[in-house]
Amino acid sequence: MTQLAAHRRALVARRRCPACAEILAARSLFRDAPCGRCNAQISTFALSADDAMRPLSRKIWTRVAGVALLVAVGYLFLGWVPMLGTILLIAAAAWIKLGLIYPVSDGFSPARRVVSRWTAKLGLAVVIVGSVLLIEAMTLLGPLGPPAKALLAAAQTVVSAGTVGLYLRWQLRREAAGKALLWMEWGMVLGITAGLLLTTAVVVGGLAALAHALQGLLDNLTVWLGA
Ligand SMILES: [Zn+2]
Repeated sequence: MTQLAAHRRALVARRRCPACAEILAARSLFRDAPCGRCNAQISTFALSADDAMRPLSRKIWTRVAGVALLVAVGYLFLGWVPMLGTILLIAAAAWIKLGLIYPVSDGFSPARRVVSRWTAKLGLAVVIVGSVLLIEAMTLLGPLGPPAKALLAAAQTVVSAGTVGLYLRWQLRREAAGKALLWMEWGMVLGITAGLLLTTAVVVGGLAALAHALQGLLDNLTVWLGA
């Protein structure tokens, strides 16, 4: 490969036109349409979905491991205060959004970009809300609580990033193959939103019941102590 060809390939790998270096739309990047700006043919340098995913997936696991480690260390400190560690789960999800969801979905066609971003973000929100109850229940372990929380939170981060990565790769392959969005995928956005509302209601209800039970216990204790 000559130096110029290598340079052009490198541009395409960054989703840029090999001739004018403008950002390429999905149809140019994967499906043989010329560059929207300078009309250059991309086909000689065209990417497969796997090629497009590769520069990201090579580094992504080291980064995910680093973020999971930070979450775990953070929980060792914040895990002593109930609910406080939830900030770490939200921060990890924000990182997954900016470091994984947005860069990969940038190459998608507009409708697929909207649907895949919302599906992935809402999915992350459901997982956070769902895992808060499980993680906070570890408070019952006393001094072993924070390490147990740290382990669970790190595992949650790795599993979330992995699932989002698999979902995006699936979408990328479909984008590259020129497959249209399914109605089901729009339905999924609505379904996950409903799931999120329901999970939140259950968790809030669960926490309220727990607080109520504790309050009752305290009242009884006060009576019992004769205060
Ligand atoms: Zn161009």
